[in-house]
Amino acid sequence: MPVTAPPAEETDVLRRQDPEIADVLLGEARRQADGLQLIAGENFTSPAVLAALGSPLANKYAEGYPGNRYHGGCEYADAAERIAVRRATALFGAAHANVQAHSGSSAVLAAYAALLKPGDTVLAMGLGHGGHLTHGSPANFSGRWFDFVPYGVDAETGLVDHEQVAALARHHRPKAIVCGSVSYPRHLDHAVFRAIADEVGAYLIADAAHPIGLVAGGAAPNPVPYADVVCATTHKVLRGPRGGMILCGEELAERIDRAVFPFTQGGAQMHTIAAKAVAFGEASTPAFSAYAHQVVTHARVLASALEAEGFAVTTGGTDTHLVTADPAPLGVDGRTARARLAAAGIVLDTCALPYGDGRGIRLGTAAVTTQGMGIPEMARIAALFGLALRDDGAEAARVRAEVRELTGGFPPYGR
Ligand SMILES: *Cc1c(COP(=O)(O)O)cnc(C)c1O
Repeated sequence: MPVTAPPAEETDVLRRQDPEIADVLLGEARRQADGLQLIAGENFTSPAVLAALGSPLANKYAEGYPGNRYHGGCEYADAAERIAVRRATALFGAAHANVQAHSGSSAVLAAYAALLKPGDTVLAMGLGHGGHLTHGSPANFSGRWFDFVPYGVDAETGLVDHEQVAALARHHRPKAIVCGSVSYPRHLDHAVFRAIADEVGAYLIADAAHPIGLVAGGAAPNPVPYADVVCATTHKVLRGPRGGMILCGEELAERIDRAVFPFTQGGAQMHTIAAKAVAFGEASTPAFSAYAHQVVTHARVLASALEAEGFAVTTGGTDTHLVTADPAPLGVDGRTARARLAAAGIVLDTCALPYGDGRGIRLGTAAVTTQGMGIPEMARIAALFGLALRDDGAEAARVRAEVRELTGGFPPYGR
C-alpha cells in the first residue's frame, strides 16, 4: 500500500532556514527508502499522520484531560483528544483509553503506578526470553522499584510455558502478571493468563506494544476482554506516530488517567495525540485489516524462506509480524549477521536466544508491507540474507546493489 510524498513546501521552508538540519532529514528519508527496513517495531506512517505531527497543535499546552485542563485555549486540543479516545475505544472494544502516554515504556510505567506499590512482586517474561526492559530489567525503573519474577519459554518448543507461569504465580503470589514481549513470534493465550491471574488474585497487564496493530486489523487476538490493563505503542504495526496508549475498563479509568498525568507525565503532546487519532482512523478501515493480514502472511513466507536458507527459526515460524532466528547454522552469530546485513542495506535487530549461544536476529514485516512489497519480494529478501551472510560477506557489494534495485521499486513515500 504505497503512500504519496509528504508536502514539499514543508521541507523547502526548513531548507532555506536551516540547511544543516534539512540535510540530516533528507539523508534519513533517503536511508529509509534506500534500504530494507526490517526492524520489527518500525513502520512508515502515512503523510496524513506526518502532517498532524508537524501541525501547530505542537505549540499547545494541555495539562489535564478534555474539559478539565490547567490551561486556557484548549478547545481544539480537547477536540483532538476526544476524537482519539473515541476512535481508540471503538477500534479495540475498550471502555476507556488513555492516549496521552508518551511511549510504550511510559504506558507501562503508568500501569505499574496505577496498580502497584514499590516493592510489589510482578511476574513477567524474563528479559533473556523476550521480556521488555520495563519487565524488570535492573537498568530500568521496573527492576529497581519492583520485585520481578521471570517466566520463560519451553526449551523444546520455544512456546510460553504456561505450567511454569502457573507454578511461579502460586509460589510467589504476584500483585500483577505481565504478558507481552519484544520478540515472541506467536500469539499469547490471554485466557490462560487471565485464569492464572484470577487464581492468585493478581492484576493482568497485557503489554501489547508489538501486536496491537495486528489486533486493530483483526489479525491477532485482542487482549482487551482479558487484561485489566492493556499497554501499547502507536508506532509499530499500528503505523501511527511514535507514542503510547493504555486501554482499560471503566473501574480503573480514573486511576490510569491519574497515573499518566499528573503522576508520571506533564503536558500531553497534542500534535502526537492528533496524529494518533489519524492513525486510529486509518486502522479502522478494511484496507488496514487487509494490510494487517498481509503483514502476517509475509512474515510466515519470510520465516519459511529463511528456514530454507538454513536459519534456525524460533518456534519454527510465526503467527505475527515478528520472526526471530538463530543464524548459527550459516556460521555467524546475531551480532555479525546484523553488521553484515547492515553493510548490505538490510536493517534489523539482534535478540536474545533463550537457550542458544550468543544472540539471534529479529525482524518484522510491517514496514516492507506498507511499502507495497509482496510474497515474491519476501522470497527475494530471504535469498539476499543467505548471500550476505555466507562466504564471510564476500557478496556484500552485490547484495547492496540488489537491495537498492528491490527497494527502488517500492518507494515508501512515492516518487
Ligand atoms: C516496544 C515495546 C515497548 C516500549 O515502547 P517505547 O515506545 O519504545 O517505549 C514496551 N514493551 C514492549 C513489549 C515493546 O515491544
